[in-house]
Amino acid sequence: MIESAKTIIYQQDIATTGSLLVEQIKQDPHSWQDKAIELWLYEGAFARQALTEQFNALGVQVLIRSAYKPLLHWFIEEVHATGLDQNLASIEISYPVDPVTDRLRFLSEAYPLDLLCPEVPLSWVALAPSAEHQYQVRFTYEDGATRSFTVFAPNESFKDHLNIDTLAPTGYLKVMNKTTGHVLQSLALHTEIQLAYHSIMQAIKDHAWGTHEPYFERLHIRVDLPGSEVFSAKQDFLASTYEALHEDLYFSILEFFQHYSGRPTGDRGLQPGQIVPDIRVTGAGDGSAIGINEVSIQITCFETKGSIEPLIALPAKLADVSASGALGAVDQALTHRQVDDALNHISGDAFAFESWQGRTLHGKHRPGSLPGIVVTGGQHANESTGVVGALRGAQWLESVAEANFAVVPLENPDGYQLFHEYCAIHPRHINHAARYTALGDDQEYRERAPWFERQGRMHALCVTDAQLHLSLHGYPAHEWTRPFSGYLPRGFELWSVPKGFFLIVRYRDGWQEKAAILLDKLVEGLAAVPGLSAYNAEQLKRYETYSGPVPFEVKRGIPCLFTRNDKQTPGVVIVTEIPDETIYGEAFTFAHEVHTETVKLASTIWWQLMSDPTQ
Ligand SMILES: [Zn+2]
Repeated sequence: MIESAKTIIYQQDIATTGSLLVEQIKQDPHSWQDKAIELWLYEGAFARQALTEQFNALGVQVLIRSAYKPLLHWFIEEVHATGLDQNLASIEISYPVDPVTDRLRFLSEAYPLDLLCPEVPLSWVALAPSAEHQYQVRFTYEDGATRSFTVFAPNESFKDHLNIDTLAPTGYLKVMNKTTGHVLQSLALHTEIQLAYHSIMQAIKDHAWGTHEPYFERLHIRVDLPGSEVFSAKQDFLASTYEALHEDLYFSILEFFQHYSGRPTGDRGLQPGQIVPDIRVTGAGDGSAIGINEVSIQITCFETKGSIEPLIALPAKLADVSASGALGAVDQALTHRQVDDALNHISGDAFAFESWQGRTLHGKHRPGSLPGIVVTGGQHANESTGVVGALRGAQWLESVAEANFAVVPLENPDGYQLFHEYCAIHPRHINHAARYTALGDDQEYRERAPWFERQGRMHALCVTDAQLHLSLHGYPAHEWTRPFSGYLPRGFELWSVPKGFFLIVRYRDGWQEKAAILLDKLVEGLAAVPGLSAYNAEQLKRYETYSGPVPFEVKRGIPCLFTRNDKQTPGVVIVTEIPDETIYGEAFTFAHEVHTETVKLASTIWWQLMSDPTQ
């Protein structure tokens, strides 16, 4: 018997917590009418308002707040919306510190409150360590008057999927006597989104996965959710429960398979297959689903490549960007076809390899007498500005007589296809499930043949004999959270908040001196790139506000990480990192301009260094 190529392994519908409470009150409204209720839910402001009206229609008094990023939502909904922030002279916020979790965890959750009151001096003070999770807020007005507020951040302790003690934000219910204010009942509520996360993790744990990687071609986790997504008036991305669920499911499932396979947590060589959380907005298009009272979950295992279906149909081919100068104006991620068209116009010997899912990744080698250089982009496919930077860098290298270079602008075409599908659903999300290859590994950490997409850079390094590899990357342009397993992204805590353009320099034994000179001269040159210093200064200031001092050396306003790595092939690898998940317009153009300038500067410095026998 032929086994089916696609199996639904789990299906579940979960009623929203708010709708269940309304049903409970309807059974006996009189017993609730002498009480005042405070609720914390994960749903958006409009849905919580609609729910408030349902409670009120039953004669019950209720105040419903956000369980996710409660301080930020309180400021938007109860301060800004009511004009309490008019004529403010200063704000002081004392944040809780719980010894069981990261010292700055509750400060991080306040990110990016300063964007909501840019004109008002805002100071942060740590409270004494305790298990009380309350922010103390003090407003001072221009006339000297002051007002104080307490903002509760409900959290709950439990053991997570790795059996690690975890403190995570939760729904919450407080019932009080309406007349006396006496608290009659107060307890954590597991809201629909928390139940969805935990039931999916349980279903993954319970399934029989066999003993051989990859365990599946694709594991598709579809969740239709009445959640919340909030932007500032200037369209800054503030918070999204859809994105938070995507991120937490992707990394939690990856962690589950790391342990299942006997590898350490965070191991990037694991090849479980392609893990694809697919979180959709149910209901109205304003980001808050009103009147939709259910989360629906379906987990499907695709066992053959041919059975995989696109998440969504993508638009037809976009404009041709291969004309001279056209790439400089590109303001959103190129399609795979656009990348190939632009690469075709660069002279040199073409090479091509096949990815795990059968897509072709292309490269070019232009021989010359200068010391070899390799430029790559798209290793992590949700980092899309490096792809444009690699093509633009190669166009410049082509213009230098005798430059010997190879370029692979899109190293991970399978991830890139998924990235484009995700962006068609959630354009601004960081979409980390498109980061690694369709085998589920980071190709740089691939442990053995068959090498598939990793052959692109292996070939490029071989034919150029390059001792310098410029690997162009990006990272989240807004906060990255995992609220269902403890809030901060485990293993990536340093990347949870943007900190500007950033350089990682790795050198092999014997190359330290050249790498150090290259880095010093490179940051010197980058300081002259228009706009970069101001951009980094603003980003670093915000990072230090919410995440503490930058734990790296900052040279000429650019954080730099300088490390030895004897496993790499070339003598020196420079990794560029710019917040680009996921950006458009001028921000996108600026990001690939910085990548391109890095290629130009680093190449020029490298050729000088390699021709100077004293260095
Ligand atoms: Zn990356």
